[in-house]
Amino acid sequence: MTYYSYSRLATFEDCPLKYKFNYLDRIKREEESIEAFLGSRFHETMEKLYRELQFRVCSLEELLNYYEEQWLKNYHPHILLVKKERSIADYKNLGRRCIEDYYQRYYPFNQGRTLALEKRVLIDLKGEGRYLIQGYIDRIDQLADDTYEIHDYKTSANLPAQSYLDKDRQLALYQIGVQNLWPEASKVKLIWHYVAFDKEMSSRRSPEELERLKEDTISLIEKIENTEEFLPQESALCSWCPYPDLCPRQKHYYQVEKLPVKDYLNDEGVKLVNTFANFELEKKGYEAKIKEIDGELEKLKEAVIKYAAREGVAVIIGSDHKLKISEKQKVSLPSKNSPERKALEEVLRQLHKLKEVSTLDIYALEKIIKEEKWDRTSLEKISDFYKIEAVKTVSLGKNNLNNSSTET
Ligand code: SF4
Repeated sequence: MTYYSYSRLATFEDCPLKYKFNYLDRIKREEESIEAFLGSRFHETMEKLYRELQFRVCSLEELLNYYEEQWLKNYHPHILLVKKERSIADYKNLGRRCIEDYYQRYYPFNQGRTLALEKRVLIDLKGEGRYLIQGYIDRIDQLADDTYEIHDYKTSANLPAQSYLDKDRQLALYQIGVQNLWPEASKVKLIWHYVAFDKEMSSRRSPEELERLKEDTISLIEKIENTEEFLPQESALCSWCPYPDLCPRQKHYYQVEKLPVKDYLNDEGVKLVNTFANFELEKKGYEAKIKEIDGELEKLKEAVIKYAAREGVAVIIGSDHKLKISEKQKVSLPSKNSPERKALEEVLRQLHKLKEVSTLDIYALEKIIKEEKWDRTSLEKISDFYKIEAVKTVSLGKNNLNNSSTET
């Protein structure tokens, strides 16, 4: 039985190949990003604060000491610092500042009664044990007016828009879990603490939205389970990916990035790219020259036409060549998708002449086949007329790969 989590679903959406490495092949990596490390330490500190709250209110100093202690205890040599302009100490200080801000904002922490911390919830999306989601809720509070609050701490450096949170899947799924645990929880508020911004954001979900979410999540799980080819999907998140050595999009960079310059330049792949780039540059130079020549020819053409008109000649003689000036009729028609074009088509249709001048739009059909835009029966009827082949292309781009490194 597979238990899906919010991060498992999000990983598939970010990059199916990373999903495969992590969840199907179960390839474990020691690397941990500094952002994730900081997040864990902050969560531990909050857990201590709220666990102690049943008995007493921890002082800020005590919490900061606890944070420092957890930082030291858990620190390991595989912390990944992606943002080269930052240091580990910057992140540690950021964590301290987040705790101080949080403490000052919520002291004496009596906004609600804490019902659970790091609470595991299990959500059976269809009630058949087939689509299961599990998650851990940072904190669940109950207010005096019986509102249940689902709290989530985010140490992220990006503050999302409210519209993003109103569509967030994670806490909405947790709401389903909370309402399964406590069916009397009719009023539920989803709360995010963006602690790096000292900002609290919230959202609510209607029963209809939760039903839609269940359906969408089931569709996503089915998509994952029906996926046969887990393709890499490059994005800014690649800098934090723990599998650059296995990913076809990053592997070569990973292999050569630490080579001494001489070996780097002698690497067969590097040489191929450099040669390719040189030829492309040369080609671009020629193309620019051709454009320039075309401009000159255009000017000359105008001069020739003027000369011929002035002299009343249709042929002009040169040393080895001659220029012949001729005239033909050109019909200009409205461009594709313009209102005029649509109107013209309508007139032709009414005249029953459209078929005579219309041809099959091969590009539109190719798109329809590739994206399976028609129903299966229609596609099957034309399937004898096309074949799908894998065509390899090579395109030149800038090498913008990030230099990730470890720092202790
Ligand atoms: S490096 Fe990027 S594209 Fe490759 S597996 Fe990781 S996230 Fe996917």
